[in-house]
Amino acid sequence: MSHMALNVDQIREDFPILSRKVNGKPLIYFDNAATSQTPQSVINTIVDYYSNYNSNIHRGVHALSQEATDLYEASRQKLQEHFNAKRAYEIIFTSGTTHGINLIASGFASILTSEDEVLVSALEHHSNIVPWQMLCERTGSQLKVIPMNEEGELVISAYHELLSERTKLVFVNHISNALGTINPIKDMIAAAHNFGAAVLVDGAQACPHLKPDMQDLDVDFYVCGAHKMCGPTGIGILYGKEEWLQKLPPYQGGGEMIDQVTFEKTTYAGLPHKFEAGTPNIAGGIAFGAAVDYMNAIGFETIASYEHELLSYATEKLLEIEGLKIYGTSDSKTSVISFNIEGIHPYDIGTILDKMGIAVRTGHHCAQPIMDFYQIPGTVRASFAFYNTKSEIDALVEGVRKAKMMLS
Ligand SMILES: *Cc1c(COP(=O)(O)O)cnc(C)c1O
Repeated sequence: MSHMALNVDQIREDFPILSRKVNGKPLIYFDNAATSQTPQSVINTIVDYYSNYNSNIHRGVHALSQEATDLYEASRQKLQEHFNAKRAYEIIFTSGTTHGINLIASGFASILTSEDEVLVSALEHHSNIVPWQMLCERTGSQLKVIPMNEEGELVISAYHELLSERTKLVFVNHISNALGTINPIKDMIAAAHNFGAAVLVDGAQACPHLKPDMQDLDVDFYVCGAHKMCGPTGIGILYGKEEWLQKLPPYQGGGEMIDQVTFEKTTYAGLPHKFEAGTPNIAGGIAFGAAVDYMNAIGFETIASYEHELLSYATEKLLEIEGLKIYGTSDSKTSVISFNIEGIHPYDIGTILDKMGIAVRTGHHCAQPIMDFYQIPGTVRASFAFYNTKSEIDALVEGVRKAKMMLS
């Protein structure tokens, strides 16, 4: 597999925030799994929208409304191509991953019965657990958990045993935000389909690192947000197979999602508008397209191989520190390192690193069941993006050593 080498110095110039200081030190941003930074081209797209053609879409006959509508719909098409959806209207704009999951969970409330079972993986983010618990409470369906092992991988043999004719839905993330594990979703989707179950994949952590192909995966629903892949907050997509989107009821009522309204009965608009009630985040939708353009110009293979280099380097250097344990040791993982140092609370390490200008995340990472599995309160999580460097990792390792000395 050949790919262009990544010129990280040049890439860093695209991100104005990377040249700022924090606590008097150059910012080292290792909280990419929580949100990524934004390149100038995406910032410019947002500024351009509000400076030149800010207008409500789909409803106006005037020029600005046409321009805004055209660019918003062009962005949907760009996302269709990026994710290889069969049709543009299978891409629904949402406010983010959480919104997409809730939209589907709410739709299934009218489909599931107390005879049905729903499978959820042990590696999920709270936003892919709580909506399913709420759904099961409403419908009486049973929620079952696909277990994980010590390496932070799903136990696939147990998954096969859990699947049955009763299974109606399976929820799994493509990549775990807390550990970085890449789950074998293609096989999991095929296995669920053998029992007629639908699968929703939470792609929030995958989309910054790889280019998922909806038709190749044959996935029923796939959700992600722009803000972890160089785009703005408050915008994301739900991909859904056309037949499912036709079948599900709308999530919210309002303007834009109707065909005919009388007080006796309302008929709904076609896809994608049925699921897009109200005025959307127009600038965000257009900027999401710009973010995808930016990442594709670098190339996802180039990004993945560079990030893998950072992961291997950081893993090796961190493990040289005595008493440091990494959680999530699958061979199949992205550039996320969750760790602890024996006898030291993760929060204390995070606080000392912050004084050095190093941004990491500490805590349970919205994945308390994973922390319970390892019987720890949380971890320090350093997550790397393609604009990070090995010398930043050296500074992290040095910082962790210092923190360990100060705290033990
Ligand atoms: C970040 C994240 C979410 C939630 O995304 P929001 O942007 O907060 O809606 C859900 N699942 C995973 C795996 C995540 O990493």
